[in-house]
Amino acid sequence: MSWDLKEALLHASKNVQSARDQLCDLDAALGDGDHGTSMARSFAAVERELSSTESNEPADLLELVGNTVLNAVGGAMGPLFGSAFLSSSTALRNADPSLSSPERTAAAIAAAANAIQRRGKASVGDKTMVDAIVPAAEAAATAAGQPDATSATVLRAAAEAAAAGTEHTKELIARIGRASRLGERTLGHQDPGATSITLVLESLAASAG
Ligand code: ADP
Ligand code: MG
Ligand code: MG
Repeated sequence: MSWDLKEALLHASKNVQSARDQLCDLDAALGDGDHGTSMARSFAAVERELSSTESNEPADLLELVGNTVLNAVGGAMGPLFGSAFLSSSTALRNADPSLSSPERTAAAIAAAANAIQRRGKASVGDKTMVDAIVPAAEAAATAAGQPDATSATVLRAAAEAAAAGTEHTKELIARIGRASRLGERTLGHQDPGATSITLVLESLAASAG
């Protein structure tokens, strides 16, 4: 990754905090209304930690974000987002040195998707953040295989796929998590966790140029 991941993660942290009310409103329709508060509190802590770390190593930064989110709040999002960032860090540390920078970026997003699915046991179509991160990982892998790929084109493809997946959650009935208790009443509402995934990927893509 040749772009400045620390700057990109700081930008994402600010955008998440700005989206607090919107994310709470989405969660009020489907859950307990705290998703924006949890995300904003977590990413305020992320902003503080990133601002005070010396390292600019991508794997170190993603590990710091993961541990900070894991320790910041309870609820569903902490362990899911936390393990996503930790797994993307591990993927970068273990990446084959011959991989190109866009291939590493795609591998990090794939690791995040796998971690969320492993941790939450949700599948595509259950109306969760899986409906954003899994298509994002698939689009990232495809984009990384293009001859003119860069980390920016990979992140843009991931963010676009996540946005489409998030839009599609409106047509789904929640089958897992707190929202599943509402059954068909979840139709027409956009999933807050998928919205957050998209916001983070869009922020990273915008910072990657
Ligand atoms: P809580 O439901 O504990 O209040 P949040 O409001 O922070 O947690 O997060 C809700 C979001 O978490 C949902 O919109 C959904 O995207 C995601 N989510 C909940 N359960 C799961 C799961 N098992 N797997 C993946 N994502 C999940
Ligand atoms: Mg909630
Ligand atoms: Mg809650």
